[in-house]
Amino acid sequence: MKVLVINCGSSSLKYQLFNMENETVLAKGLVERIGLEGSVLKHQPAGKDKVEIKAEVPNHKVAVKLMLDALVHEEYGVIKDIKEIAAVGHRVVHGGEKFSGSVRIDDKVMETLKECINLAPLHNPPNIWGIEAVKEILPDVPMVGVFDTAFHQTMPEHAYIYGVPYELYEKYSVRRYGFHGTSHRYVSMRAAMLLNRPIETLKLVTLHLGNGSSISAVNGGKSVENSMGFTPLEGITMGTRCGSIDPYLPIFIMEKEGIPIEKINDYLNKKCGVLGISGVSSDFRDIEKAAEEGNHRAKLALKVFAYQAKKYIGAYAAAMNGLDAVVFTGGIGENSSLVRKMICEDMDYFGIKIDEEKNNIRGKEADISAEGSKTKVLVIPTNEELMIARDTVALI
Ligand code: ADP
Repeated sequence: MKVLVINCGSSSLKYQLFNMENETVLAKGLVERIGLEGSVLKHQPAGKDKVEIKAEVPNHKVAVKLMLDALVHEEYGVIKDIKEIAAVGHRVVHGGEKFSGSVRIDDKVMETLKECINLAPLHNPPNIWGIEAVKEILPDVPMVGVFDTAFHQTMPEHAYIYGVPYELYEKYSVRRYGFHGTSHRYVSMRAAMLLNRPIETLKLVTLHLGNGSSISAVNGGKSVENSMGFTPLEGITMGTRCGSIDPYLPIFIMEKEGIPIEKINDYLNKKCGVLGISGVSSDFRDIEKAAEEGNHRAKLALKVFAYQAKKYIGAYAAAMNGLDAVVFTGGIGENSSLVRKMICEDMDYFGIKIDEEKNNIRGKEADISAEGSKTKVLVIPTNEELMIARDTVALI
């Protein structure tokens, strides 16, 4: 069975076509700059050369058509007919409290998705455009929605309620939701397999560290905490996002820097984080290089990032009353030996000790714990697309 996985952003569409018989990727790609000048499709068929196709792509429907044309193209296509696509799985950022798992998309689900727009005004609309575009072009193909928030719906009430009037939860659904759920779910499952233990018996802290970073406590296979909150702005300091700061700070910054209310969200999302601290870059490769060359602010940014991550591990071990393994994933978690080392340093109280040699790996599944480390430390490359494809197969 062939399953197409789609992830739509406001100006991009990422896709992967899976052969689910053996869970291999037949092709993957990305349409960039949708609705802007210079749109381009970058298409990578498995085992063939990558192609770049420049085209005018004014909207997501045209992007979907361009992708489908590439998938069936006689030279760089990977299927003969669009009809070979048995189902489409869509990544959806915010499912609010309405979705605690993946769902088959129908008219009622679409209505509910639209109700969730006010919770994620930047992310959910492009997800919906993608679904609508596929529905128009492939009306008979079943579709499934997989939500970033769904895995965290098992969080207990006391973990998701903020210290603000309860009426705000009742009126506007103000609460912690948590994000990157598909990734936390995937690496938790893989961790149980690598440790050769039933997931029901494991207390895990999973660290998804990328441009956006979130940390989860996963107890017995269920998410009980996530560092991201009502929006993906909360938690540890990120590439360009501030993470958790004193709640008075935005007001102070607006006053002092003359930033109007409609611009402050952008400021906190794009000008802060390790970019703001280092003044160098939001990319950890650049920051690590600058730190190595002696740049104090770059070193500081790395220290702030690692220190905050470390504190979450401690907090979540307390929340679960135990810790069996720490799992690193995401671009930074999978690739940066330095950041992993900094986070795991001086954590022997928690039984965490890494083996420096084993830690010297990149983008591969590995147990990097030192001999005798009570708490295991794992590196597990995430695979949200595969998780979406699996959910899609299960639901159709
Ligand atoms: P996104 O959240 O956009 O999916 P990714 O998970 O791809 O992001 O992570 C991107 C981050 O991973 C960037 O900050 C990048 O610098 C970092 N990264 C990728 N490779 C390395 C590496 N070899 N060393 C350090 N950081 C890396």
